[in-house]
Amino acid sequence: MEERGCLLCPLAPRGRALCGKLRCRRELALNLNELKQFISAWMALPENDAITPDSDIPAFDVPLIGCASGADALFPFLKEDIGADFYWLLEEAFFLAFPGLDIAADDLSIIAWILPQTEPTRLAHRRAEKLPSIEWSRARHYGEKVNVALRKAVVEQFASKGVAACAPVLLPEWSRQFSSKYAFASSWSERHAAYVCGLGTFGLSDGLITRVGKAVRVGSVIVRAAFPSTPRPYKHHREWCLFHAKGKCRACMKRCPVGAISESGHDKEKCKQYIRTVTAVHVEEAQLGFRVNSCGLCQTKVPCEHRNPTERLQGSGRS
Ligand code: SF4
Ligand code: SF4
Repeated sequence: MEERGCLLCPLAPRGRALCGKLRCRRELALNLNELKQFISAWMALPENDAITPDSDIPAFDVPLIGCASGADALFPFLKEDIGADFYWLLEEAFFLAFPGLDIAADDLSIIAWILPQTEPTRLAHRRAEKLPSIEWSRARHYGEKVNVALRKAVVEQFASKGVAACAPVLLPEWSRQFSSKYAFASSWSERHAAYVCGLGTFGLSDGLITRVGKAVRVGSVIVRAAFPSTPRPYKHHREWCLFHAKGKCRACMKRCPVGAISESGHDKEKCKQYIRTVTAVHVEEAQLGFRVNSCGLCQTKVPCEHRNPTERLQGSGRS
């Protein structure tokens, strides 16, 4: 089994990711820029980012990228809060991918990205009332395939440099779970990972409001390297939602055709039932010929669709 210290610096003690010298940190910062360039370049290739196979229309706009240390105190908090018996810490997920490696939380970083829906997809979806637009359904299905391929490409990119990495949601052990506090949950939430990485906060509808809005998809990869954490430009996990910031808006409540969003939050059961019994059937019968869990009406035609709606109120939101 692999046994080595920092992949960038032979001075680091065995099992540690950094020797602590300033030069290391500079190199890691450079590597984060390299990673950002890699992801942006990968997404810029039409064969990678396509709304349907063989299409030259992109599924997503330019991604946002952030990272956080495995030693961030939010990870144990999330485990306790979401489900101590099933929610993974970074080192727990990583150990499943690389059993036998002696890894500490601060040897690991999480890289998270936001894939923004394109303007044509958002505009088409704004016109939808009760059923999803075909553009949104395509982005939900083929766009997620882009996201899966990106996770694999990032893992392979690290592997090509001799750095171990894994995508938690692609691990065979990843599973849907039931949280006594939040109902439907899973072993690893990429939205929560992105929140820790400073990429956004949660809205009334549970979606992650980023600085390019809530009409997005999210991905993440754990890597055995200590990347510098990106700043979290918020103090509260609901800070960028107008309802939580100012007690107004509620646009997502009005937009949901089945009343699955209220001032108390998102009724996941009601939402799931509507998607499984109505919108997925519609996608099969009238759009793509197979079922897709497509809806996302609450993600468009709302103030947080493609921006942080509190930015002007707070004079913040850009990192
Ligand atoms: S539509 Fe308004 S209330 Fe709903 S998540 Fe966005 S900002 Fe919050
Ligand atoms: S995804 Fe659809 S059903 Fe679920 S909350 Fe949003 S609008 Fe309502």
